[in-house]
Amino acid sequence: MSRPRSAGVRPPTLQTLPEAIVRNTAIAGARTRSRIMAVVKADGYGHGAITVARAAIAAGARWLGTTDIAEASRLRAGGLTAPILTWLNPSGVDAESAAAGRIDVAVGSVDELHALIGQTSPTPVRIHVHVDTGMAREGCPEHEWDALFAGAQQGERQGKVRVVGLMGHLPSADHADPEANAPAVSRTHQARRAAQAAGLDVPLAHLAATSGTLTDPATHFGMVRFGAGLVGIDPSGTTELHGASRLTAPVVHCAAVAAGTPVGYDGAYVTDAPTHLCVLPVGYADGIPREISADAAVEIHGRRRRVVGRVSMDQTVVDTGADAVPLGTIATVFGPSDGATPTIHDWARWAGTIPHAIVTGIGPRVKRTFA
Ligand SMILES: *Cc1c(COP(=O)(O)O)cnc(C)c1O
Repeated sequence: MSRPRSAGVRPPTLQTLPEAIVRNTAIAGARTRSRIMAVVKADGYGHGAITVARAAIAAGARWLGTTDIAEASRLRAGGLTAPILTWLNPSGVDAESAAAGRIDVAVGSVDELHALIGQTSPTPVRIHVHVDTGMAREGCPEHEWDALFAGAQQGERQGKVRVVGLMGHLPSADHADPEANAPAVSRTHQARRAAQAAGLDVPLAHLAATSGTLTDPATHFGMVRFGAGLVGIDPSGTTELHGASRLTAPVVHCAAVAAGTPVGYDGAYVTDAPTHLCVLPVGYADGIPREISADAAVEIHGRRRRVVGRVSMDQTVVDTGADAVPLGTIATVFGPSDGATPTIHDWARWAGTIPHAIVTGIGPRVKRTFA
């Protein structure tokens, strides 16, 4: 499929707004006395991990968190020196590179612990024992705690590992509900006592993600792991955070059409009056959701304009009514909340998904800028 584009037209662009990340980090800081870990997995929720990490650290975050060691290594290569924790390394952990990169590893089972201890590494690997606090996902189930803690203690004596933290995860991360968090909170206390009884000195316990950070101080322990909130997403829906990205695309085609014109594949939409149709060179391959409600819209010249017809792989059609829009006019697909501009929360509603899926879904063809 061709993507018509005139010379000089600005390409589809996802702009990250570090100032919003700074402000969101400050909001977290005002809600907790604990340290803040900036979680920047999935390339900083699609916003650029290094940019998000730098902004969060500048605003007071002391730790970084990623899913795996590869993501953590990219942060180190980008010059970030803060402690980094990784909590899911499906193909195992290379102890030497973890130790060399000062990349901490969450260990959620005796098997994972043995896999680490069985390797040689010039310095001990820093680990966080990861206990199941009610997710039955990753994290050590309670009946294995004693074996895990005893094994970790032995690994410390052998100089293979150093236990620097104890981690859990809140099962009800998506809403504000201290009562629902209470069992996980008491499990975390319980696990810490059991670790101490096994002879471990656990300096840092951590449990909360964004929702717990914003709504429930009992979950904060020594550190909170704040990810979605950095980029303006509050799963608890209690706090006004700042959108940290803007997706724009140029109008590359605009035509006047008659009433009764079918638009896009299968003519799923037919114009009911004479109107103008504009084409944006972004489609579902670029992360524009294909399944969307009739309300889905973009902003052009300060007005919301509805998306009409099926979103194609590379193109999206917008109805601009009586207005012929000059080619190269920039449409804002989403951006920080401001007048007519749709937000990632609007798109999540239109697509029946969560804003996380909108921001992490933007495809590689879309140009990235950071300012
Ligand atoms: C993603 C993740 C977080 C951050 O969650 P948010 O709700 O995005 O803040 C924290 N901890 C773990 C283990 C995670 O996987």
